[in-house]
Amino acid sequence: MLFLLTSLIAANAADYPDPGLKGKKVLYVWGGWAGHEPKQSVDVFVPWMRSEGAEVIVSETLDSYLDEKLMESLDLIVQIWTMGSITNDQEAALLKAVERGVGLAGWHGGTGDSFRNNVNYQFMIGGQWVAHPGGVIDYSVNITNSKDPVTKGLSDFNMHSEQYYMHVDPNVKVLATTSFTGEHAAWIEGSVMPVVWKKYYGNGRVFYSSLGHVMADFEVPQALEIQKRGIRWASESKYQEKEKWLSPVYQK
Ligand SMILES: [Zn+2]
Repeated sequence: MLFLLTSLIAANAADYPDPGLKGKKVLYVWGGWAGHEPKQSVDVFVPWMRSEGAEVIVSETLDSYLDEKLMESLDLIVQIWTMGSITNDQEAALLKAVERGVGLAGWHGGTGDSFRNNVNYQFMIGGQWVAHPGGVIDYSVNITNSKDPVTKGLSDFNMHSEQYYMHVDPNVKVLATTSFTGEHAAWIEGSVMPVVWKKYYGNGRVFYSSLGHVMADFEVPQALEIQKRGIRWASESKYQEKEKWLSPVYQK
């Protein structure tokens, strides 16, 4: 029995070098534009994180970032807050925590279109939403990195949702992309755009996926799986060796 258990654990460890959320402390901050269903997202992700063994604090205010003791105790922040505004103090506290090793994970506008006036926040995330030509359309997501644990074993898949066109830091580690047809903006035909990426900000791991316009998008199994794996990865900043994540697009 013990042998069986050990081999099961070993098999899982081989599939997943990332130990995940067990014992991790997570702050889940939601708010901003309601069209992105931030409140509903709590029901999709918080019970799952708790089922993985995380202690999750759910907050409806960016003032949580000002609670220094709380911020120091965290392993991960999940922020779903589209548009809105953040004060200089709240932003500085968030950035300081991530720089010191608290991970940050999120998706779509909740993380990639949060505070349009705050370039320091955008510097941390590694991208900013600028357009979704055609609104809700059919498009494909292509897995471009099949070695990374976040996208390993997953196949390309289709979405019926907003296809995010973003301004992206060319040094993030891109794991999946999408191509634009040009149907809704002819001059971008053939453009390839990152959909999923990871990066560091100081010692903190930052994970982003542009999928998840509404919670129904996470009924696409790959979209949900990528988000879950990204959340697990981002929660590990304080426990794992720093990865060499830089993958610059423009080489010397
Ligand atoms: Zn959206």
